Amino acid sequence: MKIKCGVDIIEISRVQESIENLGDKFINKVFTQKEIEYCKNKGKMMYSHFAARFAVKEAVFKAVSEEIKDKYSVSWKDIETTNDINGRPKVEMLFLKNNIIENIDVSISHCKDYAVANVTVLFKWKGEFNLEYFDSHMHLDDEKFDNDREEIIKKIYSAGVTKCICIGTNIETTKKTIQIANLNNFIYASSGLHPEDIPQNEEELWKKLEVIKRLAIENKKVVAIGEIGLDYYWKQDNKELQKKAFIKQIEIANELNLPISIHTRDSIDDTIGIIRKMKIISSGVLHCCPFNIELVKHGLDAGLYIAFGGTCTFKNSKNAENIVKMVPMENLLVETDSPYLAPEPVRGTRNDSSNLKYIVQKIAEYKNAEPEFIAKKTYENAEKLFLNKEIKNVRS
Ligand SMILES: [Zn+2]
Repeated sequence: MKIKCGVDIIEISRVQESIENLGDKFINKVFTQKEIEYCKNKGKMMYSHFAARFAVKEAVFKAVSEEIKDKYSVSWKDIETTNDINGRPKVEMLFLKNNIIENIDVSISHCKDYAVANVTVLFKWKGEFNLEYFDSHMHLDDEKFDNDREEIIKKIYSAGVTKCICIGTNIETTKKTIQIANLNNFIYASSGLHPEDIPQNEEELWKKLEVIKRLAIENKKVVAIGEIGLDYYWKQDNKELQKKAFIKQIEIANELNLPISIHTRDSIDDTIGIIRKMKIISSGVLHCCPFNIELVKHGLDAGLYIAFGGTCTFKNSKNAENIVKMVPMENLLVETDSPYLAPEPVRGTRNDSSNLKYIVQKIAEYKNAEPEFIAKKTYENAEKLFLNKEIKNVRS
């Protein structure tokens, strides 16, 4: 059983000063609504109650930081101290509680001008942790998340998705994915021009790809070039330009030593042609892989990973089971492609990474394996493909 303690002592006058100088700006940044209501009702004792809560937050930071440091940045308002009916303080970490923390014990005391908080955090047994997942392809930047992106980020993390890649599709979305990744430790970004987003004019295409490359070089959270590839479902009249954009972006990835994320729709022969012809130095993934034997064969031959998403759970996906079985565990990845392609049993709803469990479940069924194993294996594979690369020394 893992237990960590944290202690913090804070001068009440320090908190009083911050409140007097910065007012609600400070209070709203640090304290939750419940905490604010409670303290403001305490009249003269308000400052010492705020100070005690401040000390609790710092004590909890100290206790948990080691356990969660690479996964999430905890903010002040994620830690909330309330009082039960007997007035005893009770502290909760609002978004992590189901996933990692069993219980937090707290004692608060006041001595002279100081508030002292003592916390004991009881972590769950490793075996009791919810499964951890790596969503290798999603679009959290999509406008469908504009109204509740912050909540979704907390929701997916709490659901065990402790790593994910937010995939760019053009210059604008790439910038947005980088922004989101910079704000959240556990989210990574990619830079790429999707076949649907390429311009009509070749000169303009080269200019855009220069920007795509620069964004990858200048931002450390960019871990892939993508999504790139061919899509003849939406557009047939620019096949040659699509191929040029695809090839050029493979070259960029090679130059930077980054893996690629490949989109292919109604364009299997040409996709196979290009992945056979091109040397893909840092590997990559056939994202939301179509259930086509030839494509998967050639992808595996080229050393690529194969990612399955919601479509492998659809009843009308022919061949899904055979194709999933065909892919060795070493080459397997999972993804949601959210907000699109929600898996069964939530098909048709707005998708998010917390639905990855249904996909893992289905793949486990097809492969006659435990979901725990599929989750762990695909997590390790994604880390190996995207995160453990020696990025070429082009980034200063
Ligand atoms: Zn996508």
